[in-house]
Amino acid sequence: MLKNLCMTAKIIDGKLLANKVKEKVSIAVSELGKESIFPGLATIIVGKDAASSIYVKNKGKSANEVGIKSFQYALPENVSEEDLLELIKNLNKDNAVDGILVQLPLPKHIDSDLVIDSIDPSKDVDGFNILNAGSLFIDRDGVIPCTPLGCLLMLRSINVDLKGKHAVIIGRSNIVGKPMAQLLLKENCTITVVHSKTKNIKNIVKEGDIIIAAAGIPNLVTYSWIKKDAIAIDVGINRLKIEGKNKLVGDIKFDEAKEITSYITPVPGGVGPMTIACLLMNTVFQCAKRNNIAEPSSLKELL
Ligand code: NAP
Repeated sequence: MLKNLCMTAKIIDGKLLANKVKEKVSIAVSELGKESIFPGLATIIVGKDAASSIYVKNKGKSANEVGIKSFQYALPENVSEEDLLELIKNLNKDNAVDGILVQLPLPKHIDSDLVIDSIDPSKDVDGFNILNAGSLFIDRDGVIPCTPLGCLLMLRSINVDLKGKHAVIIGRSNIVGKPMAQLLLKENCTITVVHSKTKNIKNIVKEGDIIIAAAGIPNLVTYSWIKKDAIAIDVGINRLKIEGKNKLVGDIKFDEAKEITSYITPVPGGVGPMTIACLLMNTVFQCAKRNNIAEPSSLKELL
């Protein structure tokens, strides 16, 4: 199946692109500083899940690197829903905070929808609450979720005309698949969303000029699923133990896929860093909006 291979995909380097976005965010933060405006990002984590703790730590560290003030709240696993809502209520009122991020998933005794919807929409830098999700759906101004936004910026970075391309999105979660579909629809792509109940999934994915894989299933997409010269964006982050070593892999079998795609994102070093960069960008955008000043020019040119 993999014989007679004559091409290798170009790699879309998420780290490199994320650093470029972060540089622009940093410039924007300096511009705001001249007006005595200092963006702040509050992150909340409940419990001690190792992967989530790493994500939140990285988000805080990256915020500090670009000059955004980071406020980190680590709450015990058994924190009550009431106490969590009280914290968000206080952060909603706190002028030093422009963005509030609650790391998901939350423990089962907490209603995640209630928590997400309690965040002031103007501080909902993840773009998950009902108002921002709805705004994206009906083409109104709102906060765009960081991971799909990162994927879109990666697609734009390769200067390929997206208009009319068939994008197949694997996964229909509220945080990746659904907003991704809306964003690419806005780019005039033709969209197919597949999920765990889709029949004949391989043949559907093979029709995609663009594949966005966000199922959370390691190496789901193999060579035979991919149309020649497709563009593959791998959102999946899966932890595997291979020969006794922990390894991160995506939803796309990279070594095979790079032999048939025209562009591909790696895991790690692909969508992950872009998600964080877009979180920082959203924080600064929201900060500018909340202070009724023009969006910093260095960021505007990114979108
Ligand atoms: P999720 O909420 O678990 O959703 C997974 C989606 O994939 C669901 O719609 C599910 O279908 C579908 N699915 C599951 N198995 C499938 C299969 N065998 N074939 C086709 N579709 C299948 O996950 P998520 O939060 O969207 O995240 C997806 C992946 O992206 C995870 O690996 C996650 O770690 C990663 N992620 C990465 C970033 C980043 O920054 N790089 C950010 C967010 C998420 P049903 O709806 O039918 O159940």
